[in-house]
Amino acid sequence: APSYVGWDKEIDDDFNKLTVGAIKGGRPYEKICDSALDLIGFTPMVRMSRLSKFLDDVDCDWLGKVELFNAGGSVKDRIAKRMVEEAEKSGRIKPGDILIEATSGNTGVGLCLVSAIKGYKQIICLPQKMSGEKVNTMKCLGAEILRTPTEAAWDAQDSHIFLSARLAKDLGGHVLDQYKNPGNPLAHYDGTAEEIAEQCEGKLDYMIMSTGTGGTMTGVAKKLKELIPGVQVVGVDPYGSILAEPAEVNEKSTRTGQEKLSAYHVEGIGYDFIPTVLDREIVDHWVKTDDDEAFAMCRALVRHEGLLIGGSCGSTVAGAYRFIKENKIGKDKRCAVLLADSARNYMSKFMDDGWLEQSGFDLAKIHAAVFEKGS
Ligand code: PMP
Repeated sequence: APSYVGWDKEIDDDFNKLTVGAIKGGRPYEKICDSALDLIGFTPMVRMSRLSKFLDDVDCDWLGKVELFNAGGSVKDRIAKRMVEEAEKSGRIKPGDILIEATSGNTGVGLCLVSAIKGYKQIICLPQKMSGEKVNTMKCLGAEILRTPTEAAWDAQDSHIFLSARLAKDLGGHVLDQYKNPGNPLAHYDGTAEEIAEQCEGKLDYMIMSTGTGGTMTGVAKKLKELIPGVQVVGVDPYGSILAEPAEVNEKSTRTGQEKLSAYHVEGIGYDFIPTVLDREIVDHWVKTDDDEAFAMCRALVRHEGLLIGGSCGSTVAGAYRFIKENKIGKDKRCAVLLADSARNYMSKFMDDGWLEQSGFDLAKIHAAVFEKGS
């Protein structure tokens, strides 16, 4: 049984059999599905050879695990479904109950979708920074949204995390709490990682992921290391956040001067505290990234691979690119990158030239990085 930092839980055998069985038996949605809940998981992997050709200095085989194909548009749909199902099985919640969650948006969208289908009342606590697209999606799914100041420290009285706990108490609702819930890493241990190992037919040298709660990192890394001996795990963390190790690497970006615990634009990754479900000991290497290179890489992925991915994917791929170059990862190696969400969440942000300019990015430089080979 896996043991993660902060908790210890037997894998639920029934669930595991169900998930793994479903992968081995083909996608559940080859036939008519019962609901959109069946459209969560079983995402495709794509070889990013057009991006390699454009960048001109990537020789290894690199692949993207494209999580935007989940029903709600992100990797976090997996944990929303798993956390709700586990809480139902244990008798903690039943349809009609109030669910309250603090999120940077994608867990929110996933929970709102699951709640809409299953009949829960959903309240979401969300920092102001997060995109309007996420808010509108959650509202349309029937949720109530409460915004909190972006600059509030995680343990301050006005943080989204603190607010969710207070509301649960006042309203008699349930916080499934993605920062502590074992269902978060387990969804990736049983699902995401099994799929990656199967799609790669066991041939994988490096798995590169960014981290928010760390559920994806902990669950995927743990299972891949069990299934594929020698696989190395690379974590990507934005400047401003403090999740990377050793601690000194978080201090300041030499490229942009972005400092530790300062605000950055990329959504859904990085934190000012270490979530319980993030097991940093499982990470072999950390890479730090800046907003400008992340958004340039997002636009390059859209332009060259036709993958309509979200902002953190740019950070992850920019971090992977730096890691591949600095470590001279060559031809015979395979690297996989987890692409967490969709451009749908950011149509009015990094997908919009006007927003990039208004936010102080050098648009000409970003366009050069996307359209001019060798720039
Ligand atoms: N990318 C995006 C866009 C996200 O919303 C999240 C979740 N906050 C992540 C990456 C990281 O996922 P995790 O919480 O599993 O670390």
